[in-house]
Amino acid sequence: MIENDFPDIEKILRKMTNRKEKNMARLIDGKKISQQIKDELKEKVAAMKSEGKEIGMAVIQVGNDPASSVYVGNKKKACEYIGIRSESYELPEETTQEELITLIGKLNDDDRIHGILVQLPVPKHIDEDTVIKAISPRKDVDGFHPQSVGALSIGQKGFVSCTPAGIIQLLKRSNVDIEGRECVVIGRSNIVGKPMALLLLRENGTVTVTHSKTRDLKEVCRRADILVVAVGRPKMIDASYVKEGAVVIDVGIHRDENNRLCGDVDFESVEQVASAITPVPGGVGPMTIAMLMNNCVEAALL
Ligand code: NAD
Repeated sequence: MIENDFPDIEKILRKMTNRKEKNMARLIDGKKISQQIKDELKEKVAAMKSEGKEIGMAVIQVGNDPASSVYVGNKKKACEYIGIRSESYELPEETTQEELITLIGKLNDDDRIHGILVQLPVPKHIDEDTVIKAISPRKDVDGFHPQSVGALSIGQKGFVSCTPAGIIQLLKRSNVDIEGRECVVIGRSNIVGKPMALLLLRENGTVTVTHSKTRDLKEVCRRADILVVAVGRPKMIDASYVKEGAVVIDVGIHRDENNRLCGDVDFESVEQVASAITPVPGGVGPMTIAMLMNNCVEAALL
């Protein structure tokens, strides 16, 4: 095991030296940081188990959308790694809203279940907002319930949406200061852009939120010390949007014309001007699941 690790370390060191010599942005390694978080949680969960506390998470999927099945599978694997017992509910496409709400109600009352996750999107005949509101805020590990969102906006305790929470961890664990810095978020979705802005504000950043109606997006982005890109458009943000030395976080996930994964940021262009950047894959993506696991452990401690 240890012998096998050496060539990897050499390879990484060589890559890092090359990047420095070529004056390219430092890579913010989401794979490594998410693994650290999962290992910390694994220890915490083992300690809780030794005191007789077992953590349970219910994962509900309605229908069999292939992308959703992959996400659900990854979440179950992460539970297994950390030592969280996961209960899986794979419901048929024709499940009614009432049936789904009844199941959520049962899980809300089940003391062995600490976190409830409904994989989104749900089929069109089911109203997403009604489903989210049916989950007890104490078990809302996705952080989508209006009570959780409200708590975040007034600085109270509550679960936070996993992707933006993961980005704060990425920045902190990579020693990027947020306090007092210009932070620009591209995108204002409920699950990424808005909670991201609130979290950066909580860390005392000076925050600007941009969106599809923003005038002169480039000019606003070029003010950013920290630029978080959640625009949902492959490789849209190139070096012309980025101030020299900025930290760039790429939330996007797409397939490019060669079927390779890419983000909302044109990596090859931006790595020439940024001081640090998240790659896709291996940046923000792995952090989302790590933070979901973190929320589940927190839910068990309530
Ligand atoms: P969304 O489509 O809900 O929101 C996109 C936002 O970008 C909107 O607020 C819109 O106003 C803004 N926008 C669109 N075009 C614009 C333009 N030309 N200029 C400025 N703003 C513009 O997307 P989302 O759910 O926030 O996700 C964003 C991206 O992040 C997607 O690629 C998604 O797949 C990805 N994502 C990744 C993870 C992860 O774990 N890595 C999690 C969630 C989302």
